[in-house]
Amino acid sequence: MDGYYAKLTEIRALADRFGALVMVDDCHATGFTGPQGRGTPARAGVSVDLLTGTLGKALGGALGGYIAGPQAVIDLLRQRARPYLFSNALPPAVVGAALAALDIIEGADDLRDRLTANATYWRSGLTAAGFTLLPGEHPIIPVMLGDAKLAQAMAADLNQRGVHVAPFFFPVVPKGQARIRTQMNAALTRADLDQALDAFTAAGKATGVLA
Ligand SMILES: *Cc1c(COP(=O)(O)O)cnc(C)c1O
Repeated sequence: MDGYYAKLTEIRALADRFGALVMVDDCHATGFTGPQGRGTPARAGVSVDLLTGTLGKALGGALGGYIAGPQAVIDLLRQRARPYLFSNALPPAVVGAALAALDIIEGADDLRDRLTANATYWRSGLTAAGFTLLPGEHPIIPVMLGDAKLAQAMAADLNQRGVHVAPFFFPVVPKGQARIRTQMNAALTRADLDQALDAFTAAGKATGVLA
């Protein structure tokens, strides 16, 4: 929600001190974070005990996901994980698409570089326009608006201007922290981003977010 990276080095040290396992849900990192897109643990250079990810976000919007971990945990989940037991397997076409996405991702440093460049450009453009962002480096970039009605008005205005965004407000985020959560991707061109920045500026003025 906030576009922050977990402090995995510190979390790993704490877990080691107290004999705990570390589990990371890496759905918002799989494929584009860390070397070869191997995720948050690889980015931090830390090994974790359980790692979950989705095939449905950076891997191209197919469906399905995975859990990696010790065999004993996997054996237990095969018996106890409710969406696993009594459900059909993924369709072969989806599996084929996911495997192809994994092949692309391993060698996609150019796409990851473009994503990072787009996130940097988008963050600095919104900041220069006068918006309040949560600081960071993640390509999830929340534009903080505070009030739920204001976030809804701003999102509706942006949709009218051809920029698709969704407002997030309580109970999805804490009260008073309503926002529009923007997300960068590698396919967006500089012209796309400039067009969206113009729309954000116009919508910000129309709704009174910007003076
Ligand atoms: C999207 C998401 C999931 C679920 O992924 P699906 O494959 O869409 O079911 C799980 N955890 C987090 C943190 C997510 O963002």
